[in-house]
Amino acid sequence: MTSNNSENTPPPDWDVFAQWDRHYVWHAFTQMQDYEPLMIESAKGCVLTDVRGNQLIDGVSSVWCNVHGHCHPTINAAITSQLEKVAHVTSLGMSNPITIELARRLAELTPGSLQHTFFSGDGASSVEVGLKMAFQYWHQRENPKPQKNTYIALGSAYHGDTLGSVSVGGVARFHEMFEPLLFNVIRIENPNTYRLPDGVTDQQATQYYLDELEKVLRKHHQQVAAMIIEPLVQGAAGLVMQPAGYLRGVRDLTRKYDVLLIADEVAVGFGRTGTMFACEQENVTPDILCLAKGLTGGYLAMSATIATSEVWEAFLGEGIKTFYHGHTYAGNPLAAAAAMASLDVFEQEQTLANVAIQSKLLSELLNTQLAEHPLVGDIRQRGLLAAVELVADKNSKTPLDPSLNSGSKVCRAARERGVWLRPLRDTLVIMPPLSVSSDQIRTIVDAVAYGLKKL
Ligand SMILES: *Cc1c(COP(=O)(O)O)cnc(C)c1O
Repeated sequence: MTSNNSENTPPPDWDVFAQWDRHYVWHAFTQMQDYEPLMIESAKGCVLTDVRGNQLIDGVSSVWCNVHGHCHPTINAAITSQLEKVAHVTSLGMSNPITIELARRLAELTPGSLQHTFFSGDGASSVEVGLKMAFQYWHQRENPKPQKNTYIALGSAYHGDTLGSVSVGGVARFHEMFEPLLFNVIRIENPNTYRLPDGVTDQQATQYYLDELEKVLRKHHQQVAAMIIEPLVQGAAGLVMQPAGYLRGVRDLTRKYDVLLIADEVAVGFGRTGTMFACEQENVTPDILCLAKGLTGGYLAMSATIATSEVWEAFLGEGIKTFYHGHTYAGNPLAAAAAMASLDVFEQEQTLANVAIQSKLLSELLNTQLAEHPLVGDIRQRGLLAAVELVADKNSKTPLDPSLNSGSKVCRAARERGVWLRPLRDTLVIMPPLSVSSDQIRTIVDAVAYGLKKL
């Protein structure tokens, strides 16, 4: 299409492309009436290049999925080499070597007895799979408990945009509209280290939230198939963070009350928070683990729902015990090759060591350059996942008037300084690829500081 290297072909008219983009492509989470096209033609490492040759640091990892940078030679080579063999093999009663290797490697890499990977194509599907698996498990395990037909989910949770994942989700502005289509869940207050309930101190926070959970479990555990949680950080909620020990406590309480735990590590998995998986930081093994965004290094669509042997064994036996669920491209070999290569790069480049170095630098710079700004209410961070929450008043933590679009304005200005960011309302999100350099971290923070100055 864009063969503009031939002398006879006129270069593409990017203004026309922009018009087509606004008309023919219906973008995700975007008000198309206001959409301003930003057309990326290529990318290398942490830098995106748009069709007009402008370069931008990818400050949010192409929405939280890129891990080792774009166009990485190891991942490119793995995909190309797999392409020469076969692009796709169904997972319905058939298999291929690279997908088998990946499933085995995930079993070794993930905590505890998580062993059995059900592949699908995106994070929302991995959650749907986890929810259905948990439900069916109680129907057909030894000593069944078929009355367990609901879930516990956190307030402000985000688990994807299909109706099942929206049912457990709780971001009002995304989910309210669809209310009549959703199944009921038991919603509990989400932990939030920045906005604790009145009278609850930092020291009391973990116990407070766990007590609230236990009240609900005591009353409803006989109906609850599973609790679903984004471990450590609730992403789309605004990078809302849980107090230390909360996740551990959730695991202990769900065990005590015989409720499965589904950990949605779609956003936090694969090194983002400093460890390969967030659950490791509190020594937690969920019964079901959902992975997606970073699984293929941010290259191809693939997700995984990984179950413990206990869950898996309940599905063995008569035909009726089968898990009747599947996605056409599940376990796709090209995606599996990318995922295997991404895991190789983690070892070759000591990616987690870079996360430790760069996250320390990021923390220093955010706190020295931004904390004093009158609108910066909170700076919070886990690994290379950082949030700068803007508020109207630091003391009362009053949010800014959303119609001011302050978050978007800061990010728009950051583009003038060569950094692409996408906020969550008035929370600025800084989540560069894990391969980010110190210079790039400095450029990102400078760009945010510049954007804040221009507000
Ligand atoms: C992004 C996200 C999802 C959904 O993943 P998709 O691939 O966009 O469907 C689910 N859970 C969490 C925590 C996410 O951040």
